[in-house]
Amino acid sequence: TDLNPADGILAHDLDRAHVFHSWSAQAALNPFVIAGGSGSTIWDYDGKHYLDFSSQLVNTNIGHQHPAVVNAIKAQADLLTTVAPAHGNLARGEAAKRILGLAGPRFGKVFFTNGGADANENAIRMARLTTGRDKVLSTYRSYHGNTGAAVVATGDWRRVPNEFARGHVHFFGPFSYRTEFWSDSPEQESERALRHLERVIQSEGPSSIAVILLETIPGTAGVLVPPPGYLEGVRALADRYDIVLIFDEVMCGFGRTGEWFAWQGSAVAESPVIPDLITFAKGVNSGYVPVGGVIISESIANAFEHEVFPGGLTYSGHPLAMASIVGALDAMESEGIVRNAASVGAEHIGPGLAALAEKHPMIGEVRGVGVFWALDLVDDPATRAPISTAVIGQLKKELKTRGLLPFAADNRIHVVPPCIVTPDEVAQALDIYDEAFTAVTA
Ligand code: PLP
Repeated sequence: TDLNPADGILAHDLDRAHVFHSWSAQAALNPFVIAGGSGSTIWDYDGKHYLDFSSQLVNTNIGHQHPAVVNAIKAQADLLTTVAPAHGNLARGEAAKRILGLAGPRFGKVFFTNGGADANENAIRMARLTTGRDKVLSTYRSYHGNTGAAVVATGDWRRVPNEFARGHVHFFGPFSYRTEFWSDSPEQESERALRHLERVIQSEGPSSIAVILLETIPGTAGVLVPPPGYLEGVRALADRYDIVLIFDEVMCGFGRTGEWFAWQGSAVAESPVIPDLITFAKGVNSGYVPVGGVIISESIANAFEHEVFPGGLTYSGHPLAMASIVGALDAMESEGIVRNAASVGAEHIGPGLAALAEKHPMIGEVRGVGVFWALDLVDDPATRAPISTAVIGQLKKELKTRGLLPFAADNRIHVVPPCIVTPDEVAQALDIYDEAFTAVTA
């Protein structure tokens, strides 16, 4: 399509005049305007192309503009663009059936929401209603969304000015590279983090705790792949104290780790640790239409067979979103997209980033699996002091100049391309990261 650079300037000016942005002081903003995209690439109105190694907000798992998803949305738009949640709808049933098929036999129903935050909101509510308990335990290194309970369950700085929901308690999860537990092996980190969690449960009073809410692999907090035995241990604690276990798979689900769900993979546990509720959004339809949801265990779903679930949303199971889920999941299945994420991650991204870390002392640790990686950047590998935000800013600039759209958080660059990324694109990206690290070191 024809690109007009003036449209890029207009888009930027309109944005600055009228649009209020998330998590920002508005005056400081200078948004990068994207004109279009295809697969792992996006471009601006000047026609400059960029490898999208951010997957936007780690959500375009199927890549940009996948024709199967675009066509599914168009076909549904021709048929019926909206329907009240109380009515039945074919696309909704097909979407729920596919999601349950991937989650496995322990799960009974899917409740659809508008995104990831309200998925967590409703999962927490289901757990509170079925247990008759109140408290929600979650980790300091987490992000669970920007609504009442979800933002207060969140561990990072975004919680603090928003603490208006009650009943939330935080604990430290495992993180070997920056341990809170003075551990010197992943096994010890796991054991000590579990002991800490059990002490928190006992001290809070187990009979007051409804939920343990965990990102299976904390994402925005730094792609913190749990050490051996941790998730098994959390499941055992949840069982011992009758607490509902929620895995937040909003970022790590639907292909990102090279598995349909992160909890199904050997990277996080020897054999799958199954939660009671799974929350999802992002990768389920790659964000082509806003959607999220809760995958509900058979037993929790049964609790609402004869009791009313006191919750709902006008757009629960919106037909355009449902059609996009069906289109995305079918294409991911038939094109082997989840397998591609696993193999490109294991054979190209992981070894490539490890080689970069050998060359650039600034890369303190490389963590990840599939197409879900973080580079933990340090001033000095010995002290592991996080690199400054100024260097992160320079790196972002160097990467963009060379045609790569990065994802940065705190002192880290997250390497999170779409699941469809090719070995060739990874090779190009690795060259760009290499040059950018060299440029900021010089
Ligand atoms: N949970 C996790 C793990 C996330 O990464 C996010 C978003 O980044 C959310 C929940 C919130 O999802 P949403 O922004 O769709 O509400």
